[in-house]
Amino acid sequence: MPIKDPLAKREYMRAYMRKNYLRDKESRWKRTEAWRKAHPEVHAATQARYRDRNREKIHAVLAVIDKRPHRIEARKQWKREHPELMQRINFKARLKRKLAVATNGGSCTPAQWHARCAFYGWRCAYCGKQLNRGTVEIDHVIPVAKGGTGWASNLVPACRSCNSSKGSRMLLPSRLARYLERDDISESG
Ligand SMILES: [Zn+2]
Repeated sequence: MPIKDPLAKREYMRAYMRKNYLRDKESRWKRTEAWRKAHPEVHAATQARYRDRNREKIHAVLAVIDKRPHRIEARKQWKREHPELMQRINFKARLKRKLAVATNGGSCTPAQWHARCAFYGWRCAYCGKQLNRGTVEIDHVIPVAKGGTGWASNLVPACRSCNSSKGSRMLLPSRLARYLERDDISESG
């Protein structure tokens, strides 16, 4: 029975393909695996090309996957099992950050920093938690890893929790975000 309606035809074909695919899934997968093993370079190149073209998509998916409890536990476990590797990784990360700090430049005196804290009312710029000299941490609004400088204008007070969860992501301090949302500021003013 030939189907006239093109949309219905497409649906029919889709259902047919799906059924066919599911029936044949395992042997298909085996054939694909065999092909990959026989052509490792071609497979690697294809994967590299995909990674390159879909970097943001992959990051978005991984960000969700990586937050699942068993993945977090698996990472912790891996770190516990590879202390020497972790030491090397951490050392390299510190070195990289030091290099970035030196390259990006900028400096801030203690007096300037305390003025920044006072400007924010000694509260975390992200969650508003009350801080003091003992609990305040320096957060780079534009992260060091993204080229952020050490000038006072790039530094805001943050609580430990916000500072460590922010990592090298770019987040607007709530005060700045609220300011940008206001519609009573004109470009000249
Ligand atoms: Zn906070």
